[in-house]
Amino acid sequence: AKRSGGSTHLFYEPGIGEHTDTRQDAESELTAAVQNEEFVVAYQPLIDMRSGRPIGAEALVRWQSPTKGLRMPDQFIPLAEETGLITDIGAIVLRDACMQAARWVRSIDPEDELLVTVNLSARQLQHEGLVEEVRAALTESALDPHRLVLEITETMLMHDRDTAATTLWALKDLGVRIAIDDFGTGYSSLAYLRRFPIDMLKVAREFVDGLGRDANDDAITRAIVDLAGTLGLLTIAEGIETTQQQEHVAALGCDLAQGYLFSRPVDADMVMSLVRGESWE
Ligand code: C2E
Ligand code: CA
Ligand code: CA
Repeated sequence: AKRSGGSTHLFYEPGIGEHTDTRQDAESELTAAVQNEEFVVAYQPLIDMRSGRPIGAEALVRWQSPTKGLRMPDQFIPLAEETGLITDIGAIVLRDACMQAARWVRSIDPEDELLVTVNLSARQLQHEGLVEEVRAALTESALDPHRLVLEITETMLMHDRDTAATTLWALKDLGVRIAIDDFGTGYSSLAYLRRFPIDMLKVAREFVDGLGRDANDDAITRAIVDLAGTLGLLTIAEGIETTQQQEHVAALGCDLAQGYLFSRPVDADMVMSLVRGESWE
């Protein structure tokens, strides 16, 4: 659900409201967390459906509070988005993802495919400095831009279309790739697949969930994969929990998959062992 700026119900969501009395408290706590570098990045392996091997990961941020423990993105991203702190948090994730991916690349055959995906929020896409931040993260890490994939949502494209288009084309010029997360769950317009420089579509867990059980989910997933094939886009199926779902997405021709069946989000060192072919099956 879309939240409007200044709404107060945020305080009463689990995880935010429990320990803080006011919005100011929650906000200053989050600001302090940025200053104290309390954010860590977990990585969920991405599996190449053809080879069955891990070839990268999605970066997923966590807040490791020394006093309150581990907090998941759903518990702080909405407030971060509302306050603008997401710009700082997003920059941390971007830098970490590029640095880690560059390390992974150095441990494999440089010809081999390897990619890292990073979630962008609406606010980041509208932030003027984004393109420079991405450029800096790539330069600093020496990561091949093609190996970085930025995930955006359909909703983000619908809002400020002109800014979104300008930014996405500038990112495209850097050589990074763009994926649409949870494709088909938002307010869709197929026209933007032509208008914006999109490289990949991610099939949401919502659709993957019913594969093999629900004819509608089968049909939707098939339609997304076929559309992607026609437009020359790659597909990533997320939320694969069962071998049945894995077999279905493989049969439909999905390129990549991720989910608890293969691995939960893990630390960057674990991804490094996985892409090197250690500790995998
Ligand atoms: P998302 O981008 O759709 O990420 C997928 C979420 O599904 C992750 O939750 C992941 O841990 C979880 N997941 C992966 N495989 C499975 C599975 O097989 N079954 C189930 N039930 N869940 C699975 P997480 O890490 O809690 O992230 C939640 C959301 O928070 C993400 O959804 C994304 O929208 C947002 N998020 C995470 N990291 C960042 C970030 O660095 N920046 C921004 N702007 N948003 C982020
Ligand atoms: Ca994502
Ligand atoms: Ca997703």
